[in-house]
Amino acid sequence: MSDNIFAKIINKEIPADIIYEDDQCVAFRDVNPQAPVHFLVVPRKPIAKLQDLTAEEEGLIGHLHGVITRLAEQEKIAEGYRVVVNSGSSAGQSVFHLHFHVLGGRPMRWPPG
Ligand code: 5GP
Repeated sequence: MSDNIFAKIINKEIPADIIYEDDQCVAFRDVNPQAPVHFLVVPRKPIAKLQDLTAEEEGLIGHLHGVITRLAEQEKIAEGYRVVVNSGSSAGQSVFHLHFHVLGGRPMRWPPG
């Protein structure tokens, strides 16, 4: 777990465009953005995927969603944006450190592919 790319970003071993950080999480812009605004909110705690959450993380998940709403204001997408979590490789997860994608700045289609 500690070897994944997001752990390295959290530990400042590799650079990222960090837009927010606190004692529980780090948020940075996605290197391959899928919308005009696309950032990732990542807990510092090394949880591989959403499906691994336990009751112990309930407070953390609430905190992350508060961060997402504040960053949506900061990034000027609060009027409409999408939050995506890919849990597992068949859902498209490629980095096995839990992260919330936040996408905005363009109209979103439904259903996603
Ligand atoms: P997943 O496919 O796991 O849901 O999302 C991983 C995301 O991380 C992808 O959108 C990908 O573009 C992004 N990503 C992968 N490596 C890096 C990196 O080194 N820096 C940044 N900023 N984003 C990355």
